[in-house]
Amino acid sequence: MSLVRGLHWFRNDLRLRDNTTLLALADRVDEWLPVFIFDPGFLGDDPDLPRVRFLKDCVSRLRDDLSSRGVALCIREGDPAEVLTRLVDETRSEIVSFGAADTPLARRRDEAVGAAIKKVGASTLVIRDHTVFGPEEIRTKQDGVYSVYTPYKNAWWARWFEAPRHAAKRVRLPAIALELKSDNLQIALSSSTSSTSKVGLPAGGEIAAARRLKSFLTDSISDYEVSRDFPAVDGTSRLSPYLRFGVISPRRCFDEALALGAAQPAAMEGVRKWLDELVWREFYAMVLANSPRVLTQNFRREYDHLEWSGSDAEFEAWRLGKTGYPIVDAGMRQLAQTGWMHNRVRMIVASFLTKDLLIDWRRGARHFFDSLVDGDPASNSGGWQWAASTGTDSQPYFRIFNPTLQGQKWDPEGIYIRRFIPELRGIETRFIHAPWKAKEPPIDYPSPIVDHSIQRERALDAYRSARAKGA
Ligand SMILES: Cc1cc2nc3c(=O)[nH]c(=O)nc-3n(C[C@H](O)[C@H](O)[C@H](O)COP(=O)(O)OP(=O)(O)OC[C@H]3O[C@@H](n4cnc5c(N)ncnc54)[C@H](O)[C@@H]3O)c2cc1C
Repeated sequence: MSLVRGLHWFRNDLRLRDNTTLLALADRVDEWLPVFIFDPGFLGDDPDLPRVRFLKDCVSRLRDDLSSRGVALCIREGDPAEVLTRLVDETRSEIVSFGAADTPLARRRDEAVGAAIKKVGASTLVIRDHTVFGPEEIRTKQDGVYSVYTPYKNAWWARWFEAPRHAAKRVRLPAIALELKSDNLQIALSSSTSSTSKVGLPAGGEIAAARRLKSFLTDSISDYEVSRDFPAVDGTSRLSPYLRFGVISPRRCFDEALALGAAQPAAMEGVRKWLDELVWREFYAMVLANSPRVLTQNFRREYDHLEWSGSDAEFEAWRLGKTGYPIVDAGMRQLAQTGWMHNRVRMIVASFLTKDLLIDWRRGARHFFDSLVDGDPASNSGGWQWAASTGTDSQPYFRIFNPTLQGQKWDPEGIYIRRFIPELRGIETRFIHAPWKAKEPPIDYPSPIVDHSIQRERALDAYRSARAKGA
């Protein structure tokens, strides 16, 4: 009897544990080749972007993990359709497995890959594993697409018991590993590891992800409902980059958090709140899959008439963390220094850019995507359209954050602000959110580039006028 051969193409599933597609391949083949492809079409021109460096670190740790099991990860560079058909040919594989992806670019790529693989006589095994439920699984009673989070969340939880449980402990690989030479990428991978640690990006890999989940569940989840909004507190899981690249499975997060809640009922409130945030991630993935245009266009068409009148100089001040509003500047500097920003502050800086500065949310989203270690098309466009009031279930247009009050509320002592803005470290706490009011404002920190109360009125006018034109 001849042995069946297959390839597994790792993409946004950079893990061995609870990898549904890989488990399905192991059921079907005897021999396999694990493959990762650096696709220039996807990575863009800058290999130093935080999310690309984090990705390289995760690939390098996946390679080590496989190697400790006597399996060699084949790392190639190029167009996936070409690389995979060559590999199918070289290994005489019958099946190519990979996890389904939903961005418009990924869908186009996967169609090309599927067609090319079929042409060389192999078949594809594609399973959706990046979210607990796929975009077509949670539908309204009328079989429509949800556009509001709360009913989606209720429908999601109503089906939770149907979702397969995670299999974290189980790593099952096909019996025999094939080995093919990698492209000469070792230098890129090892340099990524060192540059990752230089700027303080989190360590990649499954072990780091599992540790983070464990310490969050042990130390922080019970207070999550309260502490998650205070950026000076280490109150959130920081699992977003790992979820982004599938280094940990979302099912595992749900299962382990619920197990903790069952064992410690006092923690259940925090557990439910945290898991509802993970359902936001599923919601935005579902929205993007059903409406790919949300990446580049307003979900609410009435705002197509908005006049984005902010200037390039204002955008630069925002980007560099020099707007004169401390909570906004601290957030933008946290982003530049660490590749990550606290969720509450993401909301504040996005509101400031779109409403106070009237700058198009797409410019902000692009900058975030290029700067964040967790830059994710679905959650990023979802978060930006939420803040700009142009999205599915977004802030009403007249809700405009006052950056001074937001700072006072969520960072009352200015601990977070002082952490990222050295110019304000010495200022009295009563002036930390409005340094321009101090008798002697710090000379090296800018005055506010705009007056919030004036800009608020301008934004309301601009939004009302767009709505009137769009009606
Ligand atoms: C303008 C803006 C842009 C954003 N861009 C991204 C992005 O590119 N990538 C990204 O992963 N998240 C994005 N978010 C959502 C959120 O800010 C981050 O997921 C969160 O800050 C990550 O930190 P954490 O892992 O400690 O979150 P936790 O509070 O521990 O939450 C657990 C997980 O739930 C998910 N989650 C939490 N909040 C949200 C949310 N509002 N929307 C979608 N998923 C959520 C994330 O996967 C997160 O890791 C954005 C939010 C805003 C307002």
